[in-house]
Amino acid sequence: MGPRLGVLGWPVRHSRSPAIQNAALAAVGLAEWRYQLLPVPPILFSETVRALPGAGFRGANVTIPHKEAALALADDATASARAIGAANTLTFDRDGAIHADNTDAPGLIATLPFDAAGRSALVLGAGGSARAAVWALLEAGTREVRVWNRSPERARALCAELGGIPVLDAEPADLLVNCTSVGLDGDSVERSATDGHELNQLGLTFDQLGEYSHVIDLVYRSKTTELLDAARAHGARTVDGLEILVQQGALSLQLWTGHEPSRDIMRQAAGRDPAAD
Ligand code: NDP
Repeated sequence: MGPRLGVLGWPVRHSRSPAIQNAALAAVGLAEWRYQLLPVPPILFSETVRALPGAGFRGANVTIPHKEAALALADDATASARAIGAANTLTFDRDGAIHADNTDAPGLIATLPFDAAGRSALVLGAGGSARAAVWALLEAGTREVRVWNRSPERARALCAELGGIPVLDAEPADLLVNCTSVGLDGDSVERSATDGHELNQLGLTFDQLGEYSHVIDLVYRSKTTELLDAARAHGARTVDGLEILVQQGALSLQLWTGHEPSRDIMRQAAGRDPAAD
């Protein structure tokens, strides 16, 4: 069997990463490599990861709820993973040493059609992905990064640690990034796409969406999200969670293999029209 890769999560069965990564591996001429789902409960995370190099694994992506644990068990980590406090990519040396990195942060920046320097941004959320977004935007020179969260004390704590300005109400900005899980259940919940329920949960109204020229939603699901629908209705440029998944996945694959994969092939494998957006 060729070299192996995978995505560690719990639950992880809905992940599109295997389809995306296996298509990318084949396209860069590494068809003998295999990328697979690795459903691992928290209690088994550490011992499973330590066994992966011996089982032929060269690396793994890490998703909910393991990103902090992945950073903690690594032998070394990049400055960005340490600052963010989470790792989404592990790389294994031939001697079994584990290196941690975070490609969520540069993956987000890669989707921006403009230079973030001097711009303003509003980040919604204060969990792991919000930490990566705030760190990435500040690192890219964003002039003002405001942070709104349902539980305001978490936004305050995040900003005290990483920078950024906690806000109690959504304020206008060049860029809006949703890093909450609002909208994640949209495929299973029977609801009109425009009833405002999801926007309300984000502290926003439909009209307020006109105050952002660029909107990114990290949530990915088969239908569009209410946030992106409203943003497009106002003429904003939008990026969905699948594009973020493709960008961070492409950077992870580069770390493991040294090859730069085609984003279009990865988008197609994700079930998305490369001409969209
Ligand atoms: P966390 O669990 O760390 O954080 C969840 C955040 O969502 C918190 O800020 C929480 O607020 C907020 N939240 C949850 N429910 C609600 C609600 N009903 N109303 C308002 N706010 C709510 O998750 P992550 O940061 O790791 O991930 C967030 C989302 O981003 C997930 O949907 C995940 O799938 C997606 N994601 C997508 C990626 C991609 O590649 N496309 C990569 C990483 C994440 P509070 O503090 O008040 O609880």
